[in-house]
Amino acid sequence: MTPEPYRVARRTRELSDTWTLELEPVSGDGIDFAPGQFTMLYVFGIGEVPISVSGEPGGPLIHTVRAVGAVSAAICELQPGDMLGVRGPFGNVWPVDAAAGADVVVVAGGIGLAPLRPAVLQVLGRRGEFGDVALLYGSRTPADLLYPDELSRWRARFDLQVDVTVDSAEGGWLGKVGVVPKLIGSARFDPDSTVAFVCGPEIMMHFAARGLLERGVPSDRIYFSMERNMRCGLGHCGHCQLGSTLICRDGPVYRYDEIAELMGVREL
Ligand SMILES: Cc1cc2nc3c(=O)[nH]c(=O)nc-3n(C[C@H](O)[C@H](O)[C@H](O)COP(=O)(O)OP(=O)(O)OC[C@H]3O[C@@H](n4cnc5c(N)ncnc54)[C@H](O)[C@@H]3O)c2cc1C
Repeated sequence: MTPEPYRVARRTRELSDTWTLELEPVSGDGIDFAPGQFTMLYVFGIGEVPISVSGEPGGPLIHTVRAVGAVSAAICELQPGDMLGVRGPFGNVWPVDAAAGADVVVVAGGIGLAPLRPAVLQVLGRRGEFGDVALLYGSRTPADLLYPDELSRWRARFDLQVDVTVDSAEGGWLGKVGVVPKLIGSARFDPDSTVAFVCGPEIMMHFAARGLLERGVPSDRIYFSMERNMRCGLGHCGHCQLGSTLICRDGPVYRYDEIAELMGVREL
């Protein structure tokens, strides 16, 4: 439960309300994390919130945070050299290892690309182990697309399909307009041998699952990352209980067939 002191090493503005922070431990080697895991970030005197790791496994601890309230806004205001507390990593992982040999479809909405980025980087780092790989990403507007430079680099690869859409576009946007689940119909993958990783607003994940199921992807090969308010991160306090599961302990990554009935259950 005791946070480890970390220092902000680098701070990058992603969107008007979203920042990526690279954190370094004040002492020691820092934590090892796997794609899908999260930490509890503590801003001294303000509070602590769960934030997914968005950095490459084996690399520095990196988080991408959207300012939506007191704690997340305080994290976004931290400057290089400022200290914060880190607990974790917590939670289970995107099943990248289990996807070896299969096609991989990554469906991300908005800031949902942040928790998926480590999985994308891990798949690309071990590209030869997978069949077709598709990244389908949607945001509200072109200005809300995360990691635009990295998206451009990924688009230039021959071994990765990148399809991007926005809900609404102003002048200058030449790409697709529409919701991200619509991209599933035209993505190249073999439904009989596909593993899908999905993260974004719950309504988007619901329609993404529907699109994947319509293409023939079995429900036990579709994985979601779930979010609920959390406190301890260790399965003790019950804050993130969803039905019979505690998201911090059993998740945040769930198989769709295990979580489908609980989606839409409102937070207490
Ligand atoms: C496992 C996990 C991973 C997460 N990863 C990230 C991440 O990588 N980047 C990121 O920016 N955020 C992430 N979040 C969401 C983040 O934890 C919340 O935005 C944060 O807790 C809000 O706290 P606050 O004090 O800033 O705002 P609050 O004042 O607590 O809330 C402000 C608003 O945000 C809503 N809210 C609070 N918590 C959540 C939540 N968990 N999900 C959705 N809405 C919420 C509230 O209902 C309220 O409307 C993650 C959450 C979980 C559970």
